[in-house]
Amino acid sequence: MIDTYRHKGLRKKLAEIVAKKGIKDTNVLAAIETIPRHLFIPDNALHKYAYEDKPFPIGAGQTISQPYTVAFQTELLDLKPRDKVLEIGTGSGYQTAVLLEMGAKVFSIERQKALFDRTKELLPKLSYNTKLFYGDGYVGLPTFAPFDKVIVTAGAPYIPEDLLKQLKIGGILVIPVDEGDSQRMKKIIKLAENKFETEDLGLFRFVPLLKEKGRD
Ligand code: SAH
Repeated sequence: MIDTYRHKGLRKKLAEIVAKKGIKDTNVLAAIETIPRHLFIPDNALHKYAYEDKPFPIGAGQTISQPYTVAFQTELLDLKPRDKVLEIGTGSGYQTAVLLEMGAKVFSIERQKALFDRTKELLPKLSYNTKLFYGDGYVGLPTFAPFDKVIVTAGAPYIPEDLLKQLKIGGILVIPVDEGDSQRMKKIIKLAENKFETEDLGLFRFVPLLKEKGRD
C-alpha cells in the first residue's frame, strides 16, 4: 500500500491526458489526480502501468475500467454535492472512489464475491467509507431508493426496469447498453414517473453485466 511522489506525478499526467481527450469537469479531473489507481489493481506487476489510460485485469475475469471511460461516465452524471448515487459493478472500487472524492453518497453493488470481499477491505484502508453490497445489480437497491443518479459500469443487454424505477424525477442513469462486445453509452434523464429522455453518447467496450443465475 505504498504511494509515492512518482505515482503522484504520473496521475497528474493521467489527468492531463484525460482532459486532452475531452473531459472538462474539473472535479472529475481532480479526483483522477488524487486517487492512487495502482492500489486498486491487485497484480503488483501491473502497478507500473497503472497510470496509463487503459483497463487492467482485476481477477474473476473482470477489469478496472479505462480512466477516460470512468471520467466520461462520471461527467455525464452531472454530480451535485451530496447526490445519492447507485453504482452497479463495484469491481476494483476505483469508480466508487471517484464518486466519493466528488462528494457523492455512494451505494455500490457487486455480484462476484471475491471482488466484493477484496474491495470491501480495500476502500476503508484508503479512507473511503461507503456502503457496498453483494448482490445483483439488475434489481438495484429498492430499500435505499430513490437515487439522484445511477451508474452502470458493465455492458447491459437492456436497460433494467428496476433501475429506472429507483431513480428520482430529474435523476440521471448512465448505462452502456448492447448485447455484443461493444455498447452504446446512454444518458437517460427521468422527466416524470414514466417519461424519459435518452441521449446516445457513442461506442464503448465493457465486460458484460451478468445475470443472477450465473452467481458464484
Ligand atoms: N467500476 C469498476 C468496473 C468493474 S467491471 C471499476 O472501476 O473497477 C464491471 C463489474 O461489474 C465487475 O466487477 C463485475 O463483476 C460486475 N458485475 C457484472 N454483473 C453484475 C451484476 N449483475 N450486478 C452487480 N455487478 C455486476
